[in-house]
Amino acid sequence: MPEAVDVLIVGGGPAGLTAAIYTARAALNVVVLEGEPSSTSDQPGGQLMLTTDVENYPGFPRGVTGPQLIADLREQATKFGARLVPGKAVRLGLARSPFPVEVSGDAGAFLARSVIVATGSRTRMLGLPREDELIGRGVSTCATCDGFFFRGHDIAVVGGGDSAVEEALFLSRFARTVTIIHRRDELRASKILQERAEREPKITVRWNSVVDSFVGEDRLEGVRLRDTAAGADAVLPVTGLFLAIGHLPNTAVFGQQLALDDSGCVRTGRGSGTSVPGVFACGDVQDPVYRQAITSAGSGCTAALDAERWLEEHAHERSLAGEPAVLTPESVR
Ligand code: NAP
Repeated sequence: MPEAVDVLIVGGGPAGLTAAIYTARAALNVVVLEGEPSSTSDQPGGQLMLTTDVENYPGFPRGVTGPQLIADLREQATKFGARLVPGKAVRLGLARSPFPVEVSGDAGAFLARSVIVATGSRTRMLGLPREDELIGRGVSTCATCDGFFFRGHDIAVVGGGDSAVEEALFLSRFARTVTIIHRRDELRASKILQERAEREPKITVRWNSVVDSFVGEDRLEGVRLRDTAAGADAVLPVTGLFLAIGHLPNTAVFGQQLALDDSGCVRTGRGSGTSVPGVFACGDVQDPVYRQAITSAGSGCTAALDAERWLEEHAHERSLAGEPAVLTPESVR
C-alpha cells in the first residue's frame, strides 16, 4: 500500500535538500527521493558531487567541497525529520492531489499531497558517432571523477562556459597540456576564471573549432576538428576529451504532465508553482539561466514555502470534503 506523505521531493541536490530542511522543520511529513547512482557519480546529491571546490557559496570563506556541502545539507534535513530514500521516481500521476508516485528498486510507492520537483539537469553530449562507447575510454563528462587518470597526458575540454574553464584549470593539475576547444572566438566564462586560465601555461584555447569526429579504435587517440571560420580540418592528438557544453533539464519522468518553457525547463510562474496545482519546481530543472548551488538552494526554500502555504490552504478543503488525516489508496478513489 502506498505511504501517504505531505511533501514528496524528487531530487537530492541543493534545491531538493533545502526544500526538505524547510518543509521538515515546518513539521510536515517529508520524503526526499534522492535518486540512484549514475554513470558519473556513485552518490546521490546531483552535480555538486562532481564539483571539487565551491568557493562562492555564501558562508564558507575558505570554500567547501561539493560532496561536503551535500553531506551537511543531508544531515541538516534528516535532523528535522525528512526521510531520505534512495531511488528514483519512475512513474508519477500528476492529474490531481494526492499524487501517486512509484519509486525504483525496493523503495515502494507514495501518495503525496504535494510534490516538489528538484530533478536537476544532466550533461549535454556532442551527439557524435561512437561518443557513448568512448565514455570511460578517453571521453569523460566529469573532470573531478576522471582527471587523475590523465596524469602527464595531452587532453582537451570542449566548451567555453564556466564549467569548461573550471575543468581545464582542474585538469591542468594532472595533464601535460589542456586545450580548450570552443566554437566561437570569445569565452562565455566569468572574467575571474578566464584570467586564471590565461595565467596557466598548460592551457591554450583553440578558437572557432568544433569536434567533428573521434580518432582511435578502442581508446581515444585524438579528435578531428573543423575550424568554423577557415573551414579547414585538423587532427588534435589527445588521449582525453572532457565535455563541458552545458546541461539538459531532467524532465522525462513527468512526460507531458508539466508545462515546459522553450529551453525545456519546467515552467514556473511567480514563485515555484508549476502548471499543476500542488506541484512545485526548484533548482536547475526550472532554471535555464543562473544554475548556481546558491540559487538552487534559494529556489528550494521558495518551493518549500509555496508547498507549505498550498497545503495549509487546501487542508480546509480536504476537511470539508471529509478527507481523512491519513491518506490511503481507498480514501482517494
Ligand atoms: P554554459 O554556461 O551553458 O556554457 C556551455 C558552453 O558550451 C558554451 O560556451 C557553449 O558555447 C558551449 N556549447 C554548447 N553546446 C555546444 C555544442 N553542441 N558544441 C560545442 N560547444 C557547445 O554551461 P556551463 O559552463 O556548464 O555553466 C552552467 C551554469 O553554471 C552557468 O550559469 C555558469 O555560470 C554556472 N557555473 C558556475 C561556476 C562557478 O561560478 N564556479 C562553475 C560552473 C558552472 P557558446 O558560448 O557558443 O554558446
